[in-house]
Amino acid sequence: MIIGCHVSLSAPHYYLGSVKEALSYNANALMIYTGAPQNTFRKNVSDFKVSEARQLLAEAGISDYSIIVHAPYIINLANTTKPETFELAVEFLKQEIDRTRAMGAKVIVLHPGSHVNAGEEIGLRRIIEGLNLAMQGNDDIEIALETMAGKGSELGYTFEHLAYIKKSVSKPHLIKVCMDTCHMSDAGYDVFRFDELLDEFDRIMGLDQLRVIHLNDSKNLTGARKDRHANLGYGELGFDFLFKVASHPRLSNVPKILETPYVNDLPPYKIEIEMLRNGIFVDWLAT
Ligand code: FE
Ligand code: FE
Ligand code: ZN
Repeated sequence: MIIGCHVSLSAPHYYLGSVKEALSYNANALMIYTGAPQNTFRKNVSDFKVSEARQLLAEAGISDYSIIVHAPYIINLANTTKPETFELAVEFLKQEIDRTRAMGAKVIVLHPGSHVNAGEEIGLRRIIEGLNLAMQGNDDIEIALETMAGKGSELGYTFEHLAYIKKSVSKPHLIKVCMDTCHMSDAGYDVFRFDELLDEFDRIMGLDQLRVIHLNDSKNLTGARKDRHANLGYGELGFDFLFKVASHPRLSNVPKILETPYVNDLPPYKIEIEMLRNGIFVDWLAT
């Protein structure tokens, strides 16, 4: 089982600290924001302690495809009303591609974007334009578009949106997918019929295009479009379902990443990863 969680990247150890944090949870995958997810200020990658981090990753046997970079969620490639917002998103994504390569990772997860009030088709066209600009000069780093909850004017809440973007960009071979279990349920997919969902995804995108799964429980029922993650087994999806995804034979090569909430300022990942590896729910939040 390839399983990990999002980890921080911060002073003084940066990437090395991220890897150590992941290993402390017995993870064999990790997802990193290269700075605060809600802003675009970034330290220079030369400060990230990349070689020490890479050595530790190699010792732990963690593959380059199990190291995921997540672009900050404030960048919006779908914006058509503020040119500076779009340009910032393109410029940031270009830099993120270079940082990802420098870190020895292969995949960036990206929220496709929100069309604000422009409408879906116009928003999708803008995302395609932005990806084409950002991927100039890039021939190796993949962008995994995340399946979104459909909150507000978010695009990418259907597989069709993601397939449309992929087939329309100039480098479709570099566009992949990140499935988020909470988001898919929020978007209205009946995730409990999971094998049928995988078949549908396979028809529209191709199952081999799936690079990452965000494994999250959800605070809300199917179709809520709220995007509120819950700890494994404490939401509407439930532990049995999430274990089924984590251990699914068709997804054995796909890293599963937890983005479940901290509890009392403490990360839940060590116990959640252990529960998934054992296939047994532990009611660790019971008082
Ligand atoms: Fe995300
Ligand atoms: Fe996610
Ligand atoms: Zn989310």
